[in-house]
Amino acid sequence: MIPFLNLQKINQPYEVAFLEKTKQLFDKGWFVLGDEVMNFEHDFARYCRVPFCVGVGNGLDALMLIFRAYILLGKLHKGDEVIVPANTYIASILAVMHNDLVPILVEPDLDSYNLSLSSIEDKITDKTKAILMVHLYGQVSEASALARFAKENNILLIEDAAQAHGAVDEQLHAGAIGDAAGFSFYPGKNLGALGDAGAVTTHDPQLAEKIRILRNYGSEIKYQNKVLGFNSRLDEIQAAFLNIKLPYLNEDNHLRQIIAHRFLTEITNFKVILPKVENRAAHVFHLFVIRVSDRNAFQAFLLKNDIQTLIHYPIPPHHQKALAGFRKMELPITELIHQEVVSLPMSPVLTMEEVTRIIEVVNSY
Ligand SMILES: *Cc1c(COP(=O)(O)O)cnc(C)c1O
Repeated sequence: MIPFLNLQKINQPYEVAFLEKTKQLFDKGWFVLGDEVMNFEHDFARYCRVPFCVGVGNGLDALMLIFRAYILLGKLHKGDEVIVPANTYIASILAVMHNDLVPILVEPDLDSYNLSLSSIEDKITDKTKAILMVHLYGQVSEASALARFAKENNILLIEDAAQAHGAVDEQLHAGAIGDAAGFSFYPGKNLGALGDAGAVTTHDPQLAEKIRILRNYGSEIKYQNKVLGFNSRLDEIQAAFLNIKLPYLNEDNHLRQIIAHRFLTEITNFKVILPKVENRAAHVFHLFVIRVSDRNAFQAFLLKNDIQTLIHYPIPPHHQKALAGFRKMELPITELIHQEVVSLPMSPVLTMEEVTRIIEVVNSY
């Protein structure tokens, strides 16, 4: 069986380093906001080409705290509209709604599955104060165009970079394209911890400072609380694991791109719609998502041939019970995407034999 994702195999090369580090931290006895988090923030900021990184509890919190910090800084206000792609993972929308901001669900471009300049231009109103661009499946699209548009219109550009660690579009690195970005280090992401973890990257020193305070009970000095804060700190142990893995992220992304290149050039079945990749560095293939009109039969065929696939995502946000207020929206592109997408196995530990086998089975469908 070729599993969709083998996290044991992904982390296995780091086992000895992880165990040694765990013992060190155990002996040291300092578990929250210490040297490991500081080192990770420093190195991940450098990796993303931004001056500031703040480690937080998870990817949703990273995005939520960005919006909350902008509210505290007076740059966003309750009721402001935030443009969000309608086909995103629900976390992007929750981050907006938990701050009493209004998500404006916008259809994505069917080629990139991301927001495009043409998709958002006529959605801008007097109330539009932010765009949340999501680098879905690991692809950054129209980075410079969206950044320019946001600047010209005095709108904040925020990135949901939870799937795109290391993607680079026209010299613009994921995490450094907008005013701020939220990352997740959930175990299955391209850079994954051994549990929940996340980070915010930004060019803005004031925003970074506000998020440092917000993640730690609204406090800079212990037991002095300036604002209504949260507890969303990156654990020392998770930061330590991330410090061990970060130096290998580019290599891992490169392996994903090599596998994707084989899928893109060797899958020739006309029933399969392959992803369109204009700029190879701009896609780090967190997921390799194809579209097939008779998806159920396709998945069953692959499973019968010992290949596990998944769907990202089966139900669009506006059809979720939690978002009942959006149910009446007509979003045909988003609905088509959710009906047809299938994710093939994709990870840096897939062997070339496994890739060959996946290609053969997909082509024989
Ligand atoms: C994983 C993910 C998140 C949320 O990250 P968590 O760490 O699970 O909270 C947000 N947005 C996207 C696009 C994601 O894939």
